[in-house]
Amino acid sequence: MSPAQRIAQLREEIRFHDRKYYVEARPVISDREYDRLMQELIDLERQHPELVAPDSPTQRVGGEVQTELKSVRHAVPMLSIDNTYNEGEIRAFDERVRKLLGGEQPAYVLEPKIDGTSINLRYEDGRLVLAATRGRGDVGDDVTVNARTIRAIPLVLKAEGVSVEPPPIVEIRGEVYMNNEDFQRVNREIEAAGEEPYANPRNLTSGTLRRLDPKIVARRRLRFLAHGLGQVEPLPVESYWEWTRLVREWGIPLPQEISRAEHIDDVLARIHEFEQLRPQLPYMTDGMVVKVDSFAQRERLGATSKSPRWVVAYKYETEQQPTVLKEVRWQVGKGGNLTPVGVLEPVFIGGVTVTNVTLHNIDQIERLDLHLGDTVIIERAGEVIPYVVQAVPEKRPHGARPIKAPTRCPACQSKVEREADTPYIRCVNPACPAQLKERLRWFCHRGQMDIEGMGDVLIDQLVERGLLREFADLYRLEPEQIASLTSEVEQRGKLVTRTVGEKVARKVIDNIAASRSRPLERLLAGLGIRHVGNRVAHLLATHFGSLDALAAATPEE
Ligand SMILES: [Zn+2]
Repeated sequence: MSPAQRIAQLREEIRFHDRKYYVEARPVISDREYDRLMQELIDLERQHPELVAPDSPTQRVGGEVQTELKSVRHAVPMLSIDNTYNEGEIRAFDERVRKLLGGEQPAYVLEPKIDGTSINLRYEDGRLVLAATRGRGDVGDDVTVNARTIRAIPLVLKAEGVSVEPPPIVEIRGEVYMNNEDFQRVNREIEAAGEEPYANPRNLTSGTLRRLDPKIVARRRLRFLAHGLGQVEPLPVESYWEWTRLVREWGIPLPQEISRAEHIDDVLARIHEFEQLRPQLPYMTDGMVVKVDSFAQRERLGATSKSPRWVVAYKYETEQQPTVLKEVRWQVGKGGNLTPVGVLEPVFIGGVTVTNVTLHNIDQIERLDLHLGDTVIIERAGEVIPYVVQAVPEKRPHGARPIKAPTRCPACQSKVEREADTPYIRCVNPACPAQLKERLRWFCHRGQMDIEGMGDVLIDQLVERGLLREFADLYRLEPEQIASLTSEVEQRGKLVTRTVGEKVARKVIDNIAASRSRPLERLLAGLGIRHVGNRVAHLLATHFGSLDALAAATPEE
């Protein structure tokens, strides 16, 4: 077999496995075997650069860092969908549709409304040529380079062995989204790099899709599921249901939960069934979309200026509960930043008891016009951390005081500073005990020096007794200094306080000693220097090799 033949064979095999994985959710080989095929293809293409093709599976992350995203006009505008919130509104939608169709009873297709970013994929002669965000509906951003990194999006539509070949122009619409698990992982990485984490997968997805560096996009593992079509010339089928069958054959992934219903009663039954199912899905949904199936009927129904008349979304209620804001604590971070945390009257919401909620910064507090003792509405949806939606001013206690920015650090009482035109307030006292505690926690944390046994309670006591004033003090600790202190341990799901004791104390000292052998990049990250997150630490460590070399380096280096 010639290299060209083997390359063609490998590409076909990889595309086959991509379809098995993303379209059918039924992979037939392990990740390792898949990686081996990919590696063989990469090696062969490296030896024969003349055989590299833009639609080869190796070329997903081929794009350069862009300077800006270009605007593109959609061939068919991406209109918005009207929302409904109860059964009555869904029935009213059905009545309207039947009336406009002169009494005909249409069939409907239902699909989950995934909480992500809508995108239009344009294929010409079966090849992906353009990916654009919805944007303002008529004009979106060209995100082709980033969309190519999403493995669920085929670069080439499958044309062999399908019931109908893809026509010359095919536009697939769908949702780019992130699994809850990936959301947590990426957010942890973002936080470790010293940046602000995202509130929910939707924001992280749209932020990621609009990044200028496709390598970052590739690492974040975005996903894609189709939910519609744009321009298709010529249109090979007469209904959306047939369309979904066809695009699956071409290698386009669709949600498993898509279904067809002949009557509005069935539509409502499916909506209620899906409500039970949605908490178990690996991604977030906020409703179901109900669409008229027949393209001819859609044509007759037309659109208003902002949305088509043949489609409606049913939005599930996100869980909201009122409770009382009892107190606001300003937590001092390891860099001195003061973050407000609202202490709540405990409230049960979305399956857990919530006792406090982050208020982010003083701007957020002022925007919500929060007063002490206010009744506030807390929302929690899926994996998202709970947040305050609004205060209820009618329930405000008489004489309640608005929450103000602190002028002094709650831990050391020194004056705080606020950078002009920002909501960020900092304690700038280098000897602030709260900052020291946070820096030590960060230093001992699993991601950095990984010192097991050095928990929050132990660190607090060591700082308060003056035994820890800087990182180096950790390495001067004696077992006796720890043995008489108390620590918190988890027993059967409960936190129990108990005396450390000699045996555990010795163990902790051993763990501290063992941390001396951590790689340089972990130490650098552990020191928690501003702007030196885990990534920068890795770069510095790789470049300089040792702490002495780094200390001797000039600022330019
Ligand atoms: Zn302070």
